[in-house]
Amino acid sequence: MLPTDAEPQGGCPVQLVVADEDEHSFSLQEEALERLLLREPVQDMSVVVVSVAGAFRKGKSFLLDFMLRYMYSQKQVRGRGMLPDTEDEPLTGFTWRGGCERETTGILAWSEVFVVDKPDGSQVAVLLMDTQGAFDSQSTIKDCATLFALSTMTSSVMVYNLSQNVQEDDLQHLQLFTEYGRLAMEEVYEKPFQSLMFLIRDWSYPYEHPYGLEGGRSFLDKRLQVKQNQHEELQNVRKHIHSCFSNIGCFLLPHPGLRVATNPHFDGRLRDIDGDFKSELVRLVPLLLSPENLVEKEIGGEKVTCRDLLLYFKAYMKIYQGEELPHPKSMLQATAEANNLSAVAGAKEIYNRRMEQICGGERPYLSPSELERHHGDLRDVCVRHFRSVKKMGGDEFCRRYQTQLEAELEDMYSAFCKHNDGKNLFHAARTPATLFVLMAA
Ligand code: GDP
Ligand code: MG
Repeated sequence: MLPTDAEPQGGCPVQLVVADEDEHSFSLQEEALERLLLREPVQDMSVVVVSVAGAFRKGKSFLLDFMLRYMYSQKQVRGRGMLPDTEDEPLTGFTWRGGCERETTGILAWSEVFVVDKPDGSQVAVLLMDTQGAFDSQSTIKDCATLFALSTMTSSVMVYNLSQNVQEDDLQHLQLFTEYGRLAMEEVYEKPFQSLMFLIRDWSYPYEHPYGLEGGRSFLDKRLQVKQNQHEELQNVRKHIHSCFSNIGCFLLPHPGLRVATNPHFDGRLRDIDGDFKSELVRLVPLLLSPENLVEKEIGGEKVTCRDLLLYFKAYMKIYQGEELPHPKSMLQATAEANNLSAVAGAKEIYNRRMEQICGGERPYLSPSELERHHGDLRDVCVRHFRSVKKMGGDEFCRRYQTQLEAELEDMYSAFCKHNDGKNLFHAARTPATLFVLMAA
């Protein structure tokens, strides 16, 4: 696919969540999110959300550039590889640096949602997100907890980007923003979040734990180990993290070299990047993004489409509008609300589609009793559909949405009735009897 004028060079970063640092609040850029997720053909595809999250100036954008490069190279038939052809080609075109990127707390996404064919033949939509904030004072940490919680809840893979090591602080921050999950989990009986990947940049102890995934695993096992003589708080953090994610990994990445880290004119060209870094990078990126490794986003055990993801974003955001961190219970409520709304929308779509086939624009007039019979049958089908979709929130909660669905189906039915009656007049005007009346008049 060639880049369009609207999106130079294939895409750009789009701000999805903006922080107002004075107000300690966040707002969702709903229009931007809708433009991203309600696009053909991705809107009804299962979504894979890979989020790179962490503090400022820790190389997130640099990594995302390579991830984008990989995604674009996969899209091309005779594509070039993830790494550019020449050692002197700058990382242009895919870069997250530049105008759009200030050191602002918030969530960004790449404007292009990638369509990928998985080995099993299914197609998924891949969304890349960049989540960042400061962790330098009590109040910024609290703000970030909200933001990172939102990012964790909406992503299928959370890459937690850290510098040099996993500090106790890093774990506590992680605990803070996954705290909601633990409580929500008691209700849904499963781990609320999917994959967590600790990504340690500038790893400098390869002789203790080698670079890459294997070294990461042994390092993390040691770091997350719960020990008998450990302070209770430290034990809790560890247990909590294990209980929140279905999958936890760690990848140790070497230092990219002094040219990358210190040269202000560094433009991403490979010549300036250390060989070790490059060879680990070509292992890391496919681990996250190759078709067979893509993990579809699930909430409550159900795969989520791009369209659903929009509902989840809105629902979660709503409870974050206040200043206080929301009670975990309300987090569950928001999830339940979003998946009930999604089930209502699905059922209405079935109703609309079938009714269009029965009595839509081009279809002939039907007698009211016949139309009513069709409506009755379809209403039952749609309510059954709604009830069969797995939803959270309990029976009573879901019943409210069922009532809403039934009311909305009745409204749709009246609209179809009106339309049908309209055809009757038309029909009547053409019958010889009416012609006779008209001529006689
Ligand atoms: P972000 O704020 O986390 O998105 O960080 P950037 O990707 O903009 O990188 C910040 C600076 O760190 C830039 O000068 C990069 O060239 C440099 N950088 C990128 N990756 C690494 C890394 O792995 N280690 C070090 N030490 N510097 C890096
Ligand atoms: Mg950045």
